[in-house]
Amino acid sequence: MERATVCKFCSPILLSPRSAVVGKRKHQLSNHTKFKFCYSKFKIQALHSAQTHLSSEVAAEKSQSSTDFAIGELVWPSPSDEIPFWKKDFPSWDVNPEVPVDIKKDSDPMHIIHITAEMAPIAKVGGLGDVVTGLARACLLRGHTVDIMLPFYECIQKQQIEDLELVTTYNSYHDGNWIQTNAYHGVVSGISVIFIEPSNQFFKGQNLYGGSYNELEAYLFFSRASLEWMQMTGAQPDIIHVHEWQTGALPLLYWDMYHYLSLKKPRLVLTIHNMEHYGECTKEQLSKSGLDGFIYATVEKAVDDRTIGHNPERLSLLKGGIVYSNAVVTVSPTYLKETLCTGWLASTLIRNRDKYFGILNGIDTAMWNPATDIFLPAKFNAQNPEGKKLCKYYVQRGLGLASEGILDGNHVPDMTHKVPLVVCITRLVPQKGLHLISHAIKRVEELGAQMVILGKTSDGRVEREFEGLAKLHNQGPSIRILLMFSEELSHMLYAAADIVLVPSMFEPCGLAQMIGMRYGAVPVVRKTGGLADTVFDMDDQSNHEMANGFVFEGIDEGSLDSALDRALAHYRQKPDEWNGIVQKVMELDNSWNNTAGKYIEVYNSVRVRL
Ligand code: ADP
Repeated sequence: MERATVCKFCSPILLSPRSAVVGKRKHQLSNHTKFKFCYSKFKIQALHSAQTHLSSEVAAEKSQSSTDFAIGELVWPSPSDEIPFWKKDFPSWDVNPEVPVDIKKDSDPMHIIHITAEMAPIAKVGGLGDVVTGLARACLLRGHTVDIMLPFYECIQKQQIEDLELVTTYNSYHDGNWIQTNAYHGVVSGISVIFIEPSNQFFKGQNLYGGSYNELEAYLFFSRASLEWMQMTGAQPDIIHVHEWQTGALPLLYWDMYHYLSLKKPRLVLTIHNMEHYGECTKEQLSKSGLDGFIYATVEKAVDDRTIGHNPERLSLLKGGIVYSNAVVTVSPTYLKETLCTGWLASTLIRNRDKYFGILNGIDTAMWNPATDIFLPAKFNAQNPEGKKLCKYYVQRGLGLASEGILDGNHVPDMTHKVPLVVCITRLVPQKGLHLISHAIKRVEELGAQMVILGKTSDGRVEREFEGLAKLHNQGPSIRILLMFSEELSHMLYAAADIVLVPSMFEPCGLAQMIGMRYGAVPVVRKTGGLADTVFDMDDQSNHEMANGFVFEGIDEGSLDSALDRALAHYRQKPDEWNGIVQKVMELDNSWNNTAGKYIEVYNSVRVRL
């Protein structure tokens, strides 16, 4: 039986009785909110309470005595365990539940809807997922209303979503047909999410990307289905925030179609997380969304400039998104400069310079917090770093890395201190400096250190290359190459690491170095994009105050060695100074609390009041 109901952000629509609860927006964080970590996989619940303070998080951590982090009965893992240590169950009771929060509320709250292909932790391949969740949470904490719209990928574990329910079923256009589509609502990590599930084959398969359907057409469908959902429910957010090429067509659909229907109020913000992917599209494919693809094939609109005069010319959804959005953001000030100087989109960005901003990503400190992280065998923070040593020893034992010696109480063996551990957690794609990553393996081994690579690739050639390296090294005492994606293991590795390596050829922002620092790993990075904005060389005498890592510039192996060798020598020869750097990087504030305000300024600069 269906019945009509009204919710704050929807006009009256037909909902099933179960869905009436959505209207209450019971998931929205109130003025006084606590996060309860409840990782019976990755859930973070929002709890409501009388007084909570997120900005006092650091102060609260400082006041925590080391006994707060005392480890209980640790069961030491071994490589021969039937269930690898990162795959064990992480029950919710095992969590330090509350992160204190105190964020100043913005005076003029707005409603923001993110439309995205990824959201951490349920649908994450790389940084895009982290950024969407972190920014959404930061805006919620500042008093705004935030929703995320996400394809309902078949591979999402439904049990990771709280209060999941079917909100409504509607039709959305694709390629001459109206496709029956389900819209579900649920809460993930304390954030309201609307899941779009078409009844065709789109978004089916065991991975987020690379399914056996046409990906470009699936995201064209998702872009239109998201607007169709707003049109149908009467949602009029102040801001529709789209991300990457996948939702690049949405601003076109908005201004040339839905704005002429009932969507009047929203303004469009596009964040470009990586300009390498630009959504190459034929005119015919764009026409499948219901737009006339042929009218977008101009320099001023969406033609891929490199194909002008070719037969056929191609379109770029990312370029269309840049042209049709009210504001365009990229993820670091240095990447903004780089993209204005190089790449075929530079001329489009220069033409749109007055609405193009560089805002450094933050990290989600609710998700990434070594003092509360459920995946860690021992918690720690800058004031009480002892737990970090245990994390390192735990990982060394679990992976079978040399870590001789007997654990005496909580004092880990000497070997663990003497041998620096380098980690590299990355998508294995050329952007990330594959030749430097494989060179680092050799160099680390030569210098008697240890290294763990946690990397995932969908490229068969790269897979084979790294499988070969794994075969060569994984039986030895110092190198482990793990070709997979594991959120759990990534947390443990950041916590175990002395050094986090990010040798990217280009890096729009990079989260790995920021997460690594929060977990007390000193970064070794190539100076590019957001890495140049966040890591400053220890030996740069002119900038000692900011110094927090080891930086190199060239793309050759020798350049990497110049930074890696210095870092390893520093670790071994100046242990006290090293501990000082570790404390310093853990205390840096790279959180969204620092940068979300810049997004709010951009939102405010384009919003309208109807
Ligand atoms: P990118 O977005 O280009 O992949 P970022 O550094 O911005 O790079 O973000 C990468 C995010 O993905 C980080 O949260 C990192 O820990 C995570 N990540 C990358 N590879 C893996 C992996 N193989 N397993 C688990 N997490 C990974």
